Amino acid sequence: MAEKKQFQAESQKLLDLMIHSIYTHKEIFIRELVSNASDATDKLYYKALTENISSIAREDLSIDLMIDKEHRVLSIRDHGIGMTKEELELHLGTIANSGSSAFKTENEHDDIDIIGQFGVGFYSSFMVAKKVEVVTRKFGEESGHIWVSEAIDGYEISPCDVDNNGTVIRLYLKDNTDDDNYDEYLGEYAIQSLIKKYSDYVHYPIKMNMTTYQPIEGSEETQEVIENKTLNSMVPLWKRNKRDISKEDYTEFYKDKFNDFNDPIHTIHTSVEGTVSYDSLLFIPSKPPMDYYSNDYEKGLQLYSRGVFIMDKATDLLPEHFRFVKGLVDSQDLSLNISRELLQQDHQLKFIADKIEKKIQSELEKLLKNQREEYEKFFESFGLQLKFGIYHSYGMLKDKLQDLLLYYSSNQEKMLTLQEYVDAMPENQTEIYFASGESYDKINALPQIEAIKDKGFDILYLIDNVDEFCFQMMRDYKEKAFKNVAQGDLDLQSDEQKEEIEKQVEENKGLLELIKESLQDKVVDVKISTRLKTHPVCLVSSEGVSFEMEKVLSAMPDGNDVKAGRILEINPTHPIFEAMQKVFEMNQEKINDYSSLLYDQALLIEGFSVENPVEFSNKICQLMIDASN
Ligand code: ADP
Ligand code: MG
Repeated sequence: MAEKKQFQAESQKLLDLMIHSIYTHKEIFIRELVSNASDATDKLYYKALTENISSIAREDLSIDLMIDKEHRVLSIRDHGIGMTKEELELHLGTIANSGSSAFKTENEHDDIDIIGQFGVGFYSSFMVAKKVEVVTRKFGEESGHIWVSEAIDGYEISPCDVDNNGTVIRLYLKDNTDDDNYDEYLGEYAIQSLIKKYSDYVHYPIKMNMTTYQPIEGSEETQEVIENKTLNSMVPLWKRNKRDISKEDYTEFYKDKFNDFNDPIHTIHTSVEGTVSYDSLLFIPSKPPMDYYSNDYEKGLQLYSRGVFIMDKATDLLPEHFRFVKGLVDSQDLSLNISRELLQQDHQLKFIADKIEKKIQSELEKLLKNQREEYEKFFESFGLQLKFGIYHSYGMLKDKLQDLLLYYSSNQEKMLTLQEYVDAMPENQTEIYFASGESYDKINALPQIEAIKDKGFDILYLIDNVDEFCFQMMRDYKEKAFKNVAQGDLDLQSDEQKEEIEKQVEENKGLLELIKESLQDKVVDVKISTRLKTHPVCLVSSEGVSFEMEKVLSAMPDGNDVKAGRILEINPTHPIFEAMQKVFEMNQEKINDYSSLLYDQALLIEGFSVENPVEFSNKICQLMIDASN
């Protein structure tokens, strides 16, 4: 009994795109279907090996292409794992956890581009077919099912006799139009060249009957001979000689295999011979996948043993701080029976993982050194991961990662490594200055940075939440401590200047105390500022938790109530200071209001909200009224 079902909404969207696609590379459907066939065969072969099923021989596991010119049908058959009815429904009725799901949130990209650029999966069949049939039988089951769809009005699944396990996809090609000639997918040579182009590395033979013309012995004539030919070379990309692989080969492979529509920023292909031999093919994506910074993202490399696929995400092959890397490892020294649990203890795997970590590290260093622009793109995408690496390891990864970090330099107005910052430090500068805030512009406006800039010292601008926590873990770089410009003492003055300040403090003792008193427990201290130039006041935090850290901590779900100690600093060279002195002498009861106004302004500048906005506003109004009288 057939039941008519609708595609899920997201699937419908993708489907519509496929049907109405004017995309010129419709041919990629073949890559998608072949790679699905290869995946399904992998699954079966792996099962055969691990469960000792002797009836399955690798030689029999071909992928077959069949052309029926008369009915205009192109079919792709595999002898793989097959699908149950439920699986048909789940995998072909919805975009479930397939690579195509990345499509869902990718609206900013031109739809048409998506099709050509990444694995759109099974639905790409509808770029060339008006009707698709999937006949399949799951390995181990007695009979099979047929799934039929003409895309528009959903799909139907019905039981059906199928001789063997595996799947046949039948594409009923669309009618030709003035612009599109679908007959080309019925041409043997066209299909052969598409397979060469897209699926050459597939490690099962892709076979097709091809017509050849052979001379008839003793005659001038030739005769038509049908030959079942293998179309692909079957050498996996990573086993091929690096010199014979073009950048496009790598890119195509990456996009197809890892469902990304962007080119990778960097490709690392290595063959290692030794105690443990392996080939690895690693890619650094240019953009983080949608789910990258969520719990859904699973790191890991694909694992092969002698070209036989073992598992999709061997997590232990990648350290957490390089979890953005995609790729695969193929080693002849691994047992096929290895399970996820065993992997952790496998010392050969540990050995490989170690080497891979070092390789990624050194490649990133090279990229930074030789291809700065590319590296900066990388850092924009994944720099956060490196910072988290240092933070989460409590600084243990500092030595490995610190030279891969980049920060925005206020002097040079570009990204610098810490080494570059230190190299540019004038002799009299002893610490690495940084300022944090929401954006570079906001930091630029902070009163606290003035005095340091004035001295000609560079300041690193930190805008990621993790930045200060990361610096805290690192403590210093090459023995130069990190110093928050809005925290503690800056110690920028000469001895004379210090004396001058001390004098001022002495003379204004009463005023400062009164301000502090009137602000009560809002501040831990009120000081004469040495870091302000043009601004009247600022808030600085005492050593320990800084303001940005306070903001980050209080935004965390478990509501950390850590507060930075607030110190109100007043600029002694600003007219407001003189005004305060006058008020202190003549009209002390006004100090209360003035202090609170100064404090609220400092809060606002620092990006906090004032505690009582109405009172703040009332006080300003009163001032304006007083001034006009
Ligand atoms: P993806 O391959 O990225 O998962 P597809 O849209 O290409 O996405 O395929 C969706 C799912 O359908 C596959 O993950 C697989 O479970 C199933 N599938 C597709 N083709 C086959 C096949 N020939 N044999 C068995 N399962 C298949
Ligand atoms: Mg697929």
